[in-house]
Amino acid sequence: MRLASINGRLTVLTPGGDAVDVSEETGGRFSPLIQECYGRWGELRDAAGALERRKGRPLAGIGPEEFGCPAPEPRQVFAVGLNYAAHAAEASLAVPEDLTVFTKFATSLAGPYGTIALPPGTVDWEVELVVVIGDGGHRIPADRAWEHVAGLTAGQDLSERTMQSAGPAPQYSLAKSFSGFGPMGPVVVTPDEFEDPDSIDLACSVNGEQVQKGNTSDMVFPVPEIIARLSAVTPLLPGDVIFTGTPAGVGVGRSPQRFLAPGDALVTVVQGVGEMRHRLRGPE
Ligand code: ZN
Repeated sequence: MRLASINGRLTVLTPGGDAVDVSEETGGRFSPLIQECYGRWGELRDAAGALERRKGRPLAGIGPEEFGCPAPEPRQVFAVGLNYAAHAAEASLAVPEDLTVFTKFATSLAGPYGTIALPPGTVDWEVELVVVIGDGGHRIPADRAWEHVAGLTAGQDLSERTMQSAGPAPQYSLAKSFSGFGPMGPVVVTPDEFEDPDSIDLACSVNGEQVQKGNTSDMVFPVPEIIARLSAVTPLLPGDVIFTGTPAGVGVGRSPQRFLAPGDALVTVVQGVGEMRHRLRGPE
């Protein structure tokens, strides 16, 4: 199943290329707000087969500005740092022996298309696979972890490196939470739609030049292990979001270093999900 928030309404994208409004097509049984569907994940999965046979608006006629963030109001946002060995190496940091976790504050989440204002400093790109939790749980074993995943989407963990590294300890959470620094989308795709959900290509480009390319099979802690280790500490709740780390190729690891500038076009691609497109602009 492929889900999106289109004009603020929970929508199923059918194999036939239609966008079906879930609330309308179920007589109001489901809320139009996409965040609420993750709390009723089993019911939505049961309804998916019928919804995918309905006719709706042709997806081809839907403009990018109509797509919103597919998990806009999670109660918890987790982000994993240094989860690809080649990225840890370019950051001159050791591969961690346990998860390195921070948050992106929920107000930084944004939709899959549009413009993002650059704050002062040095803003860097980080393409990431993003997990959205369906059925929550505490102490989820790794071998049951995929059962708790509603779906996967693309994300950018945009990062202001100057603030991030200014103090005596890394300031990850705040430096990665400026407005618009957590775009996600355009769709949430259930794990069964992937040939192998543990091996997904991801990439990003700036002004048409590919700057990152990776595969999630190179993660230090794969998705099931992330879920097991996070939920060993804190229960995962329906609709929670997990940014799973970025592969090599970020701007701060380059020689010379390179950061985003006003006017840059940032394209973020996750295999099986699609692509996000953003334009950077100067501060207001
Ligand atoms: Zn990251």
